[in-house]
Amino acid sequence: MKYIFVTGGVVSSLGKGLAAASIGTLLEHRGLKTLMQKFDPYLNVDPGTMSPYQHGEVYVLDDGAETDLDLGHYERFTSGVLSRMNNLTSGQVFDSVIKKERRGEYLGKTVQFIPHVTDEIKSRLHQVTNDNSDVDVLITEIGGTVGDMEGLLFIEALRQFALEVGKENVCFIHVTLLPYIKAAGEVKTKPTQQSVAKLRELGIQPDIIICRTEADLDEDNRRKIAMFCNVEKKNVVAFRDVAHTIYECPLDLRRDKIDRLVVDRLGLGHTPSPALEEWERFVQRVIHPKNKVTIAVAGKYIELQDAYKSIYESLIHAGAHHDTKVQVIRVEAEAIEDHGAKAVIGEVDGILVPGGFGDRGIEGKILAAKYARENNIPYFGICLGMQIATIEFARHVCGLEAANSTEFEKDTIHPVICLQEEQKGVEDMGATMRLGSSESILFAGTKASQLYDNADRIHERHRHRYEFNSDYQDRLQDAGLVISSVSAEEGLVEIVELPNHPFYVGAQFHPEFQSKPNHPHPLFAGFVAAALDHSLNS
Ligand code: GLN
Repeated sequence: MKYIFVTGGVVSSLGKGLAAASIGTLLEHRGLKTLMQKFDPYLNVDPGTMSPYQHGEVYVLDDGAETDLDLGHYERFTSGVLSRMNNLTSGQVFDSVIKKERRGEYLGKTVQFIPHVTDEIKSRLHQVTNDNSDVDVLITEIGGTVGDMEGLLFIEALRQFALEVGKENVCFIHVTLLPYIKAAGEVKTKPTQQSVAKLRELGIQPDIIICRTEADLDEDNRRKIAMFCNVEKKNVVAFRDVAHTIYECPLDLRRDKIDRLVVDRLGLGHTPSPALEEWERFVQRVIHPKNKVTIAVAGKYIELQDAYKSIYESLIHAGAHHDTKVQVIRVEAEAIEDHGAKAVIGEVDGILVPGGFGDRGIEGKILAAKYARENNIPYFGICLGMQIATIEFARHVCGLEAANSTEFEKDTIHPVICLQEEQKGVEDMGATMRLGSSESILFAGTKASQLYDNADRIHERHRHRYEFNSDYQDRLQDAGLVISSVSAEEGLVEIVELPNHPFYVGAQFHPEFQSKPNHPHPLFAGFVAAALDHSLNS
């Protein structure tokens, strides 16, 4: 196996994850089998307990791992399906070292950062290598910025690892920022020089430098960076701000032939230049759509670009599929409480209520669902959004006025959403939800079944504690709610929908974790199609 390690310098939010994912796209399109992973130097065991304000979205894998949102980019940009082995945090590393110490596995020794902690990091690399012997290239992104104290052990581990597996099998790529100083009218290379100097101080000489720039990178600056950073000029690659969509990133990096540089560096032999036609067609559909729809996403962390990342991406995928630009209006659910649904979301073609926790904004979301139901506006509820649709239906159609979820009102007299028995004794917060992919049965004749192409079984990823309360199933069904899917094992309600409505669907799972650029998730595709109908007919 060959290894690419992607580090970042100067500042965070450089698009390092997108750069890594784009390299994955390009190598995969050259016919190489690629696997991607992330090392995160923070001390949380996983991001599952972090607030979206801290971390953005928590991305859930098939196996139930709660991971960094960059893994979402990796799964969308490459065909790899990732596992919990592909996101290592300092929290996991130290947890494992300390458990080993207590078990006596280091008996007689002083347990130290080097070699014990660095060995632990390397052992993950060896394990992933052994578990994926069919993979040609393993791409590992290191979170944070070079020079951060918490990243030092990871960098040191990579330095040692490169020596052990042979430097010819390892390519270090450093992503850095070239700030443009407006007053001087100049692009500055000094921060890059210093950041590479820092990396070299830690024993790593980057092979390729990816320069994030607003504008282009001229020959002079390329030469300067090459000289000061000790790399060949051709290995200084520009990564420009893309104009329209993140899916342009692989195409942009391709301009300086980064995939070719990597293949040459790693001696990957003769692979054809990447066949990107399909990817380019997708990008063209995103950039030049025929139609346009407006969709309100009514949530709680709405000002935060990254909080519902996969949902926004899934809407883009579905939009491209229908040759449609999806204009997302981010709505603070509390604003609907204050001003009413009509005033805030009266003009949209579709309403999406995403997942969430806690009771802030809940009544606003219920008003949004009610407005969508009563006015025939397409509604798509995801996880919490499905629970909201259920509560709204119970209250306003079924006549159970006090209906609620026990998450928001512990002693509600109509707990239409409640904890399952096995969740009741749970005290730890980390990794204790219903997590990951499970199989569900779809009922024929429903909208959901039609959208999934009449499949009778589906596999979708979950991340929630509360469930549709089966004690209320009959009453809600009698009042007209259709249950279109239940989990294969426990019979838990997975999808609810309303007949005689253009699109009113709630899913207990997270479809947004399985949508890809050229393969939109069927529920998103159905939702955007309904929104398009709405816009054309209104
Ligand atoms: N808070 C709800 C639950 O725990 C919904 C979770 C979510 O939307 N991801 O069940």
